Amino acid sequence: MKNAFIYTDKLSEFKYGEHHPLKPFRLKLTWELIKAFGLDKLSSTIYIEPKPADQSFVEKVHDHEYLDILRTVNVGIDVPYASMFGLGYGDNPIFNGVYEWSMLVAGATLEAVNLILSGEVKIAFNIAGGLHHALPNRASGFCYINDCALGIKYLLEKGKRVAYIDIDAHHGDGVQEIFYDNDDVLNISIHESGYYLFPGKGFVEELGTGSGYGYSINIPLPPGSDDKVFHYVFDRVVPAYISKFEPDIIVTQLGVDTLYDDPLAHLNLSIYGFADAVKKIKSFNLPWVALGGGGYNIASVAKAWTIAWAIINDVTLENKIPASYIETYRGYGFENDSLYGERYEIDDDVSQKLIKEVDREIMFLEKNLSRIKGKRVI
Ligand SMILES: [Zn+2]
Repeated sequence: MKNAFIYTDKLSEFKYGEHHPLKPFRLKLTWELIKAFGLDKLSSTIYIEPKPADQSFVEKVHDHEYLDILRTVNVGIDVPYASMFGLGYGDNPIFNGVYEWSMLVAGATLEAVNLILSGEVKIAFNIAGGLHHALPNRASGFCYINDCALGIKYLLEKGKRVAYIDIDAHHGDGVQEIFYDNDDVLNISIHESGYYLFPGKGFVEELGTGSGYGYSINIPLPPGSDDKVFHYVFDRVVPAYISKFEPDIIVTQLGVDTLYDDPLAHLNLSIYGFADAVKKIKSFNLPWVALGGGGYNIASVAKAWTIAWAIINDVTLENKIPASYIETYRGYGFENDSLYGERYEIDDDVSQKLIKEVDREIMFLEKNLSRIKGKRVI
């Protein structure tokens, strides 16, 4: 079976604004690095250009009224009431092409789902996706259309049980809210604690509601958490829930604002730690819709997602970025040719203290594990 990479340079041409931290250009940096390593020409891969999503499908998650306003502001000009939908200030600027950008990202995720459903593709990666904060009736946290939720919705319509794993530094609040009462979606989010970081949610007590109670799993990490703390949590929680739930398909949000050199969050993962998470997700050996997410050190984003694509295709890359790439993109933060960068180690006593903190949360969740039911036997 093949793995699909879904991308077009058009995605990288949109601009949130000169001073906005989200730079769609990071997508091109990633694609160019993938090409520099020859990962676009493997026998295991296919490359697909996405098309914009249909608004009628997007309305399965988002309100018609909100989408109409988003379409109206696509020209880059504010309109009355836009601010009531979270549009036009700070995090969610009204930029030229904001609707087109959002529909193209969503279309790429729906294409990824389509390819998986066809049975011809095992893993599909949309690096532009993972816009997990958008809510049905408002933009939030740089996200206008929640492509993760749309992809999951599509899978549910086809009768699939979906495990959503979100490893972005920020809690995946939009996705959680949309499926909070649904026991066909297992929602696992590991993120920096909402006491310190947007969106101020994702606490361990948020377990779901109604028949979805027990199917929202949140593990907030204290600021400073490194690879060791992250993987301690991952290993204790994720495999147990996945094996109990027995999903048909995994959808992941692979945000890399968890890295120690990210300017927005306060976690200390290294690219090695991120890569290990990708390997563990791959080892579940399930059809997998892989989406991008946050990441605001754009050189680190390109490195991390290139490595993710290599892991998806069972390729081990040497720790050396090709010279021609460095020459072209040096100005974007590629200070040397190391692909993996430094490991980031915090003192053992500090990491033991952090592990003790997260242990209390894990114990709380372990009591909850019994609520999860596997595939219904008909
Ligand atoms: Zn994030």
